[in-house]
Amino acid sequence: MAEAETFAFQAEINQLLSLIINTFYSNKEIFLRELISNSSDALDKIRYESLTDKSKLDAQPELFIRLVPDKANKTLAIIDSGVGMTKADLVNNLGTIARSGTKEFMEALQAGADVSMIGQFGVGFYSAYLVAEKVIVTTKHNDDEQYIWESQAGGSFTVTRDVSGEQLGRGTKITLFLKEDQLEYLEERRIKDLVKKHSEFISYPIYLRTEKTTEKEISDDEDDEPKKEEEGDVEEVDEEEEEKKSKKKKKKIKEVSHEWQLINKQKPIWLRKPDEITKEEYASFYKSLTNDWEDHLAVKHFSVEGQLEFKAILFVPKRVPFDLFDTRKKMNNIKLYVRRVFIMDNCEELIPEYLGFVKGVVDSDDLPLNISREMLQQNKILKVIRKNLVKKCIEMFNEIAENKEDYNKFYEAFAKNLKLGIHEDSQNRAKLADLLRYHSTKSGNEMTSLKDYVSRMKEGQKDIYYITGESKKAVENSPFLERLKKKGYEVLFMVDAIDEYAVGQLKEYDGKKLVSATKEGLKLDEESEEEKKKREEKKKSFENLCKTMKDILGDKVEKVVVSDRIVDSPCCLVTGEYGWSANMERIMKAQALRDNSMSSYMSSKKTMEINPDNGIMEELRKRAEADKNDKSVKDLVMLLFETALLTSGFSLDDPNTFAARIHRMLKLGLSIDEDETAGDDVDMPALEEDGAEESKMEEVD
Ligand code: ADP
Ligand code: MG
Repeated sequence: MAEAETFAFQAEINQLLSLIINTFYSNKEIFLRELISNSSDALDKIRYESLTDKSKLDAQPELFIRLVPDKANKTLAIIDSGVGMTKADLVNNLGTIARSGTKEFMEALQAGADVSMIGQFGVGFYSAYLVAEKVIVTTKHNDDEQYIWESQAGGSFTVTRDVSGEQLGRGTKITLFLKEDQLEYLEERRIKDLVKKHSEFISYPIYLRTEKTTEKEISDDEDDEPKKEEEGDVEEVDEEEEEKKSKKKKKKIKEVSHEWQLINKQKPIWLRKPDEITKEEYASFYKSLTNDWEDHLAVKHFSVEGQLEFKAILFVPKRVPFDLFDTRKKMNNIKLYVRRVFIMDNCEELIPEYLGFVKGVVDSDDLPLNISREMLQQNKILKVIRKNLVKKCIEMFNEIAENKEDYNKFYEAFAKNLKLGIHEDSQNRAKLADLLRYHSTKSGNEMTSLKDYVSRMKEGQKDIYYITGESKKAVENSPFLERLKKKGYEVLFMVDAIDEYAVGQLKEYDGKKLVSATKEGLKLDEESEEEKKKREEKKKSFENLCKTMKDILGDKVEKVVVSDRIVDSPCCLVTGEYGWSANMERIMKAQALRDNSMSSYMSSKKTMEINPDNGIMEELRKRAEADKNDKSVKDLVMLLFETALLTSGFSLDDPNTFAARIHRMLKLGLSIDEDETAGDDVDMPALEEDGAEESKMEEVD
């Protein structure tokens, strides 16, 4: 016997194991699905390797999964002739290297998630400890000797070279020493039902070692040498009793024989006709494919024939997987088969990244069996398949949209992906745009599609208006919407960070321009000559104030102009047509990845628009005209600028200065005199001076 090496479980895995062992779960049965799914993965790997090198199968040409319940020893073994594990694999994969999902899974569990989710987090193996107190993994990889991994959890595991044990040839045997209260998993019926329930679509044969007891009559003279079946154990039945029953000179004996019973169908579901497949069968296949514990939201099963032939089943899940936008992991869940033979998981060339949440299988009749990842990149057939898959995905999304409730679920989960698609997939941009939904000034609690928006457009309205911002709340009362609302024009609220990018690419829908309510140059409609003249005159009268304001604000704004868009508010800040919007500035500041020169270049072009009909502006104009150096004018202009920053969706660089200014105004409003408060404990800053005084005030506060 070779010496056992002991390893400590990585800390998080150890935590996970205690959680699995010490918490009550009702759904323990999923362990079998997880272990069978690992076997199936291992078989996929060796089959794929053998496509380019047949000799890889030499040690064990047959590909199978075998389940062996052993009542005498209270063990259940899962044996596969898959790729197996080298010693290093054993140490790394089963205990010392934590997957990114380990921690996430524990968090999910603590948040009330079901233990059956384990497979999605890439730690399915450890579910063995739901039912077993000890697990032994015996494994043989083509490139290494046979090794034994053993653990009763409890912080460590051992790895030993297996010199004397039964030789596997190639593959893995997982032996579960079942807990006393989990012996139901030794029952044939239970195992068969479980395989049917969770593992029906495994594409390798699953055999169950079954026990059969048969009664056999034999004549007395044969008694000494009962015939034995291969592998069969023979048991003699009590002789006396038998003789009472049968008066003949014959004897009955019970024979116990073992046989391998095939317990799964393996005909791939995608080869069957869609109208002969039940919803439950699709759900069951979906779950076995994805390790999801919930049914799919939508399915699309189709075949393409003609010059190129393939069959595919695509699924949309109900939820976002926990690592959808995890950049470490390439999310792509389409399995590629060639003429029924599994070729690879996550074939990146099959589907664009933004559709990475779609799961399924593609079985091509045209690709060569020995296709490699490198070849895939240039492959023309694959490009055609990809185009078809995208088309079918969009069809499927439109089918989901026929049911409002389903679509809401779908949109909540995957709107970001659709918007990413708008950004990236110019060919399908228009079709994807139909799938977008937004809240708007007229949509109430529901969301509206662009199509419905267009159908509601007012006579004379040429463009589609939108406003971007941090949240619905932040934009719905924005001063930018005043004129538009007054005219009865609907405005879409784009409050997802990615909207800003998506709308930048979309530019138009159904021949109508998408126009931001916050960008410079928003022209709403033509006015009569008289109105125009009146407005021009008013503008003229405010020219001086605009100049004064620009002088006071300096570099903070590009220019100050009289506005056409605001009705109630005194002023607002707009960004140039090509610069960043307030929302984009916020996003970029938050990302903090671009260099500063870019940010100052893109974010510098703010224009202050003032409302000539607003009382404050009118008063300001009068004061400025009376005395250009009036201190209160300076203060008011600064305050107006800072509040406009806030109402227009920008952030304040220096909230303290802003607060100090407000306090000064409060004092004015309350007619508190400077001198009266000078000796007080709670000090108010001096009226005139900016700067030093304000920070003092903050300290006091
Ligand atoms: P996942 O299957 O998501 O990778 P698991 O926790 O189920 O996560 O399995 C961990 C790893 O252990 C697998 O990725 C694989 O490398 C290895 N493994 C588990 N079971 C087997 C098996 N039967 N044959 C070969 N390798 C296996
Ligand atoms: Mg697994």
